[in-house]
Amino acid sequence: MARRSGSKTPKKPITWKALKRIARMYVYIRPFQGEFLLGMLFLLLSSSSNLAFPAFLGDLVDAAQNDPSQINPIAGTLAALLLAQAVFSFGRIVFFERVAQRALAALRQAMYSHLIDLPLPFFHNRRVGELTSRLQSDIGVLQETFTSTLAEFIRQIVVIVGGIALLTYTSWKLTLFMLAILPVVVVLAVVFGSRIRKYSKQVQDASADSNTVVEESLSAIATVTAYTSENRERARYETANQNVAKLAITGGILRGGFASFLILGLFGALVAVVWKGTSLIATGELDAGQLFSFVIYSGFIGGSIGGMADVYARLQKAVGATEALLDMLDEAIEENSAHVADEPEGRPIPDGASAVRFENVDFAYPTRPDVPVLSNFSLDIPSGAQVALVGPSGAGKSTVVQLLLRFHAAQQGQLFLHGEVAESWKKWTWRKKTAWVPQEVILFGHSIRENIAYGRPESSEEEILEAARQANALEFIQRFPDGMDTQIGERGVQLSGGQRQRIAIARAVLRNPDILLLDEATSSLDAESEALVQDALQRLMSGRTSLVIAHRLSTVRNADKIAFLQDGAVQEWGSHEELMALPHGKYRQFVAQQLQ
Ligand code: ADP
Repeated sequence: MARRSGSKTPKKPITWKALKRIARMYVYIRPFQGEFLLGMLFLLLSSSSNLAFPAFLGDLVDAAQNDPSQINPIAGTLAALLLAQAVFSFGRIVFFERVAQRALAALRQAMYSHLIDLPLPFFHNRRVGELTSRLQSDIGVLQETFTSTLAEFIRQIVVIVGGIALLTYTSWKLTLFMLAILPVVVVLAVVFGSRIRKYSKQVQDASADSNTVVEESLSAIATVTAYTSENRERARYETANQNVAKLAITGGILRGGFASFLILGLFGALVAVVWKGTSLIATGELDAGQLFSFVIYSGFIGGSIGGMADVYARLQKAVGATEALLDMLDEAIEENSAHVADEPEGRPIPDGASAVRFENVDFAYPTRPDVPVLSNFSLDIPSGAQVALVGPSGAGKSTVVQLLLRFHAAQQGQLFLHGEVAESWKKWTWRKKTAWVPQEVILFGHSIRENIAYGRPESSEEEILEAARQANALEFIQRFPDGMDTQIGERGVQLSGGQRQRIAIARAVLRNPDILLLDEATSSLDAESEALVQDALQRLMSGRTSLVIAHRLSTVRNADKIAFLQDGAVQEWGSHEELMALPHGKYRQFVAQQLQ
C-alpha cells in the first residue's frame, strides 16, 4: 500500500559537519541577535530559578524541625522566586518568538525569492504540491525548534548539570548512589518506550493492510463474484486479520512489561535513594529537609534525562529540515531576475534579419536524455511573419516553443534571435520581448484588470480597456457588476473557456510583444465564442512575428508559412496552397485527417 511520506522531514545525524553547514542559517538571526541573547539570558535565569525551588522547599522542611521562625521568611523567598520565574518565562517566550518569527519570515522570503528564479526543469522534476508542503513542514520544524525545542534542550542541560552539582554539594555519597541507578533506569525506560511506540505503529500498519483487503474486494465485488474467488478473499482476509491480533497481543505483553518495569525500576530507584538517604540521616550525615529536596532534584534530573531523547530526536529533525532548506537555497538559479531587471531593455534590433532561427538543433529533455525530441531541427521565422506549426501530437511542437522561450537549451545546433546567437541575450531581456498564450490559460485569483495587466503592470487604465476591446473581451467584462474589478477564481466569478482565452489574448495585446507565441486551444468552444476568439487572435497576430501551434484549419490557412513537424524535424515548409499542391504531401494527408 502506498503511504504518503513526501512531505515529512527526515531526521539527520547531528555531526560537526552538519552543524558547520547549518551555521550559515545564522544570517537570518543576526539582525535580531541582541534579542536572541536576551531571550537566552531569560531562559538561563528561568531554568536556574526553577532549580532553586527544591532547595528552598528542603529548607522549609528543615525549618519546621529546627527553627520554625524561619518558615515565613523562607516561604516569602519562595514566593519572590515564583514571581521572578514568571517574569523570566514570559520574557523568554516573547523574545524567542519575536526573533523566530522575524527570522523565519526572512527565511521564507529568501526561499521564495530563490525558488521563483529557478530554471523550469527544476519544477518539471518535482511536483509543486509536494515541494510546497515539504517547504512548509521544514519551516514548521525550524519554528518549533526555535520556539520550544531549543529552550527545552537548554533547560534540561541546566537541570541536569546544575541539579547534580547542587546534589553533590549536599551529599556526594547519596549523589553517587543515585547516579549509579537513576540514569540507567531512565535510559532503559526511554528505549523500552520507543520500542513500544514502534511496535504499535506496526499494529496500525497491519490493521491498515487488513482494511485494504476489505476495501479492495468489496469495491471490486462484481469481479470477485464473477471469478468465484470469495473463498480466496476470505482466506486473504483471515491471514491479515489474524496478523493484526497476533501483533496486538505481543504489543500488550510489551506494555505490561513496561508497566512492571516502571514500578520496579523507577519507584524502586526512588525507594533505594530514600533508603540510602534515611540511613545517612541515621548516621547524622544528612538532614530530613535535605533528603526531601534530594528526592525532588532526583525527580527533576530523571525527567530531564528522559526528555533528552525526544528533544534530541527533534533536533535531528531540525538538522534534516535545515539541510533540506539549504539544499534548496543552493540550487543554481539560471539568472538573477532581480539583478537583470536593472538592465536597459531597449536593445536595438537589427533590420532585415529573421526574428527567430533554429539551426540544426538537437534536443532531448534533461529528464529523459536518451529520447531525442528534436533532431536536426531547422526553422526560420521571418520578421513580421505568421508561422503555423502543424503536426501530430508528440511531434515536438510545444518543445519548439519552450526552446524559443529558452526554458531549456539545445544540446546541439544554434538558436538565433534577431540574427544574434541566443546566448548573447539575457534570458530575462529576451522573454520581455515575447508574449506567450498557452493552451491552458492560467488566470491568477486577482481582478480581471490585474490579470490583463500581468505582462505590463505599469499600463494605464485606457491601455487596459483598449487591450480588452481588441481582444473582444471588453463587452463581457463590462456586463459584470464590478467590471474590471471583478475577482476571478474561487470567491469570484468562474469564467467560461472563451472568456478566459480572450482575457489571455488581452494580456498579450497589452504586452505588445515583438514575438507572439501561441498555443491554440484544442478544446472546442461554442460557435459564437469561437468566432470572437478567432477574430481577436487574428487582430493580435496581424503584422506581428507570430509562432502558432495551430489546431484549426482557419488559423493555418491565414498563416504566411506552415511548418509541418514530424519526428522532431520540419518535414514540409510553405504556404497552405503550396503544401496542398504537393501530390503525396504529409501536410495534405494531415489536413484531410485532422484539421477538417
Ligand atoms: P507536441 O506539442 O507536438 O504534442 P511535445 O513537444 O509536447 O509535442 O512533446 C514532444 C515529445 O517530448 C513527446 O514525446 C513528449 O513525451 C516529450 N516531452 C514533452 N515534455 C517533456 C518533458 N518535460 N520531459 C520529458 N519529455 C517530454
